[in-house]
Formats: sequence, structure tokens, C-alpha cells
Amino acid sequence: MRKKIVAGNWKMNTLPAEGVVLAEGVVAGRGEVCSCVNFIVCPPFTHLSEVAAALKGSDVELGAQNCAAEAKGAYTGEVAASMIAALGCKYVILGHSERRQYYGETSETLNKKMEQAYANGLTPIYCVGENLDEREAGKHFDVVKAQIEEVVYNLTAEQFADLVIAYEPVWAIGTGKTATAEQAQEIHAYIRKVLADKFGAAAAECPILYGGSCKPSNAAEIFAKEDVDGGLIGGAALKAEDFLAIGKGFEK
Ligand code: PEP
Repeated sequence: MRKKIVAGNWKMNTLPAEGVVLAEGVVAGRGEVCSCVNFIVCPPFTHLSEVAAALKGSDVELGAQNCAAEAKGAYTGEVAASMIAALGCKYVILGHSERRQYYGETSETLNKKMEQAYANGLTPIYCVGENLDEREAGKHFDVVKAQIEEVVYNLTAEQFADLVIAYEPVWAIGTGKTATAEQAQEIHAYIRKVLADKFGAAAAECPILYGGSCKPSNAAEIFAKEDVDGGLIGGAALKAEDFLAIGKGFEK
């Protein structure tokens, strides 16, 4: 049985006190959603400590949105994987399309970040996905395959057993456009096949999340697909009610 995961990527939103209120709202309503759903919240670095305190005693887990490629040292402005782990993070989002697009993250950098994550006991949520031009040119399969081969294929079997993948078509992120459940299933099944080509039967255990304008009204249909194991949620994760309602998509 693969883990069912609903992870919230808060991006660069909320002030610390607002983040605490949001986290408290998730904790307060969590009991209304199947305990089979693993909720993760990923606030900005600046809120991790306070949000960790707000989550204490609940099963809602904490993640960060990024980590440095190096362990420590003279890297002004960077935040090491060891630092976020020390604040209570269990997960780290790596390779988000906004990091690839605006901060020039390449597979080379991401290989180093993955190593840092594993060295510090963090589970990476590794994001893949094509942009609109690539989708329209029918290149989406090749794009995600390369993003997996260049990074995930470098993991050991032990590391791979502790990995979450998020498929996020760039054209669906924050645009209100969602992939259809059929489009999501088609590419999730393909991703699982690419993973199986390297890691064999272990690929059946890897959670693959869908991300891109996922909301309470479309989550159930997307999550019902065989190879979709939950969602990485942006905008709708900023309201506890909506975030929890997305988790309820697993009950329908
Ligand atoms: C994201 O950026 O991870 C995301 C899925 O955003 P949104 O849900 O807002 O499209």
C-alpha cells in the first residue's frame, strides 16, 4: 500500500504569525479527514520553528521548500539541510519548477541537494513536469524522463525507498488550469514505468503526487486514479479548510 500524501507548498506567503494560525487550523480539522492521509505543510524557512511548535502532538508533518546544495560554510543566504532537519522538518521539496525557472536549478545542483537531504534524514519531494510548449510539442514524456534519469537514477535503492515524486505540469501551476484526471494518470503511470526500469518492484511503492491548481472540487477525481497518490498543493494550501477538503478527496 503506497502512502497517500497531501502536501502544502506555501511558497513565499504568510507572515510567521499567519503561518501559525494556518498550521493550527490544519491540526484542528485534521481529525475530520481519514487518518490514511498524510498531511505535510511546507512553510517558508522563517516560520519553520513556530510552525513546528504548532504541529506538536499532531500527525501533520513539516517540510521545507528548498535546501542548500552544500553542507555548510561561506554560502551567504543559503539554508542547509541540517538546519531545516534540526527545526523538525521531515521533508524537503526539491526541483520545484519555480526553482528551476527563476533560480536556474539544474540537475547538477539538484543531485547535490538530494545528497544533502538524505545525509540529514530528510525525505525529498522531487518535482518534475513540462512547460506548455513542451506539452504542446508532445515532449512531456521525454521531459519528465530526463528529469528523473538525471537525478533520481543516481540514488541508491535505499535512498529511492525514501522518495516522493511530484508531477507538476508547469502550465497548471497557479494558472487555474488543471490536468485532467486522465492526463495525470497517463503521465503518472509513465513515471512509474521509468522508475521501475531502474529500481524494479520498488517503483510500485513510490508515492507520486499530482500538483497544479489542485483544489477541493477536482481532488477526488484526480486522486481516484490508480497511479496518483495525492497532491502537492500551492494556492489551496493557504486556507486550512480547502487544504483539508482536498485530503477528503481520498474518501470519495
Ligand atoms: C505548486 O506550485 O506546487 C502548486 C501546485 O501550485 P498551485 O496549486 O497553486 O497550482
